[in-house]
Amino acid sequence: MAHVHRPKVIVGNWKMHKGIAEARSFVTGLALSHFTSLVGLAVPYTCLSAAAEAARGSAIMIGAQNVSDNEDGPFTGEISSKMLKDTGATFAIVGHSERRQHFHEDDTLVNNKIKRLIESGLRPLMCIGETLEQHQDGKSHQVLHAQLINGFRGLTPGQVEHIIVAYEPVWAIGTGKTASPETVEAAHAYCRKVIASAWGKDTAEHIIIQYGGSVKADNAAALLALSDVDGLLVGGASLALESFTKILHAQEHSKS
Ligand code: PEP
Repeated sequence: MAHVHRPKVIVGNWKMHKGIAEARSFVTGLALSHFTSLVGLAVPYTCLSAAAEAARGSAIMIGAQNVSDNEDGPFTGEISSKMLKDTGATFAIVGHSERRQHFHEDDTLVNNKIKRLIESGLRPLMCIGETLEQHQDGKSHQVLHAQLINGFRGLTPGQVEHIIVAYEPVWAIGTGKTASPETVEAAHAYCRKVIASAWGKDTAEHIIIQYGGSVKADNAAALLALSDVDGLLVGGASLALESFTKILHAQEHSKS
């Protein structure tokens, strides 16, 4: 099969940081900088409208960090995919390890959230990855297999192709420990193999698989140069415009 050219997609995840004014000035500043990759920012719910407004006319995608698995109804405190769409958001993260860990989200819930996002025309960004214990027990691939198969259950190849997957080994998130290039490349190739066997080779060759976990300006280029790495999900280093734009520029210095 001919080699498929996949764009590099770099997304910042602000987690529970920043208010409206800061989000607005960050996005305005980012829109003025030069970058060649596709760029997204997953911002707090409260910043979505302001960030989307500031990003208008630029190539910056604004997204949420979570979504309800329900369409609407008596779910106090929840935010639906339709509400996200209303703010100008175009994507949302689901299944981040912090939500799996602290809010006990499982693959069935993640799968339902993905379905709500697709119904509303938003692009899901699904995080997967093994914990340190699973990594040490040699269960990484088993975990990735279950998270992909269950997270994408009931979806068509066309729907799966449009999802962004972020491989984020839990032991590398916010710890300063980045997975080695060999580990990352092997995990990404394995994910593509799982997707190929369940949803077809074409879907596997087109789907974007990002790496996330302690990405910084000084390791971004090496990660982006890996052939199966189609971008990055960046937490801590996306909070300052300077460090985030350095990562975006690293894309130009990577080999691919
Ligand atoms: C993340 O939260 O998705 C993440 C990768 O965080 P960090 O870059 O800080 O490790």
